Amino acid sequence: MLFVRLGALCNNACVFCAQAQERAVGAGPLSEERVAAVISDAASRGEPLAFVGGEPTLHDPLASWIAAARRAGVPRIVLQTNARRLTYASYARELQAAGLSAIDVSLLGSSAAMHDYHTGTPGAFSQTVQGMRQARAAGVVVVASCVMTRSNFRHLADIVRVAHAAGASSIRFRFAARAGRVLQAPDRIVPHPALVAPYLKLARTQARRLRLDALLLGSASDPRQPFVDFLADEAEHPVQHPDGSGFVPPIVGLEQLAGKPRPAVTERRVRERRTGAELSKILPTFFDPASGER
Ligand code: SF4
Repeated sequence: MLFVRLGALCNNACVFCAQAQERAVGAGPLSEERVAAVISDAASRGEPLAFVGGEPTLHDPLASWIAAARRAGVPRIVLQTNARRLTYASYARELQAAGLSAIDVSLLGSSAAMHDYHTGTPGAFSQTVQGMRQARAAGVVVVASCVMTRSNFRHLADIVRVAHAAGASSIRFRFAARAGRVLQAPDRIVPHPALVAPYLKLARTQARRLRLDALLLGSASDPRQPFVDFLADEAEHPVQHPDGSGFVPPIVGLEQLAGKPRPAVTERRVRERRTGAELSKILPTFFDPASGER
């Protein structure tokens, strides 16, 4: 897949945005000539194309670029978006008619308060969810992407439910990159991997109940490799990406991590009481002074 990185212009202000610095220095958008060059490159290679960078729907020529890419023979076109502009049904239909195949939507919470906190934008949640619905209604495949933070990791299963209700066919989880705004307060934003793992498994169980594909995304150079290893210990087989439209190669499928299915929606919650010795067995890296991150 080739990427058209349109710039950093965005109508959200996410607490973990890796492109905030670019925006702060006023980096301009990609020129029309460069957009055309990448489209031509993708067409000649017969590769899918993804429009990314800031919020691509803020660029008015987007539909015409999508149409041009289709005319040139690009087989599949994906849009990485917060979906807020897709709230307008006519715009969702316009992009679909131009040839848009799928949208990859940033969904950061299971409630307006949680999502809007992450985006720094009151009202973003309702627009994003509505945008996902409009895209789905227009015939565009919807994928949800959730950046896991200290403020949402306990709610991953609920976020799966919201994604499903909004029309997503799959959901991808990833950690916030240690770049951009995250560098201002990494310990406040990035959760300890060992704490996230149980919630990730619950999320996968929920996704399986709802027949959503769920993937954990990472890369070989990911600084959180110990987390990937921690999860991979429990995986029997790595999962191949379902449609090749991911922006980062999947390391391990959550399907293999869920273990025995557990009840989710109707689960009975009980208070857990554990001794320090028990906790150190459950979360060895958390208690190991040599493990680094806390
Ligand atoms: S949606 Fe959020 S993370 Fe993505 S570019 Fe905009 S502010 Fe940054």
